[in-house]
Amino acid sequence: MKLNKLTKEEERVILHKGTELPYTGEYDNFYESGTYYCKRCGAKLFKSESKFDAHCGWPAFDDQIPGAVEKGENQGLIFGTEVHCARCKAHLGHVYHNEFLTRKNTRYCINSISMRFVPDKKGKNGK
Ligand SMILES: [Zn+2]
Repeated sequence: MKLNKLTKEEERVILHKGTELPYTGEYDNFYESGTYYCKRCGAKLFKSESKFDAHCGWPAFDDQIPGAVEKGENQGLIFGTEVHCARCKAHLGHVYHNEFLTRKNTRYCINSISMRFVPDKKGKNGK
């Protein structure tokens, strides 16, 4: 597996399970259509169709690309359950359930810095 080089701040979040400051992430207020990839290994993680505005200060998704995101330790109601890339174990953020924000009733709260966005090619081959 080829891993991308990370900056100091990326390492803090991705390797040491840090959290970027709310409302600062590149993809917090960002709704282009495309795919979000793991910054570290390049695995596909989320599609823009699953992104919604949770007003929480971080990008929020109500679904993952199947099998892309793995759950870690459950840190309780407030901190949720840790989630990371299923392929390279890069820390992504946390997942919360039963908040009734979307029909799927799930919120992946993800650090922008853990992901890289690639817009869909023109002509709709998006899936
Ligand atoms: Zn990864």
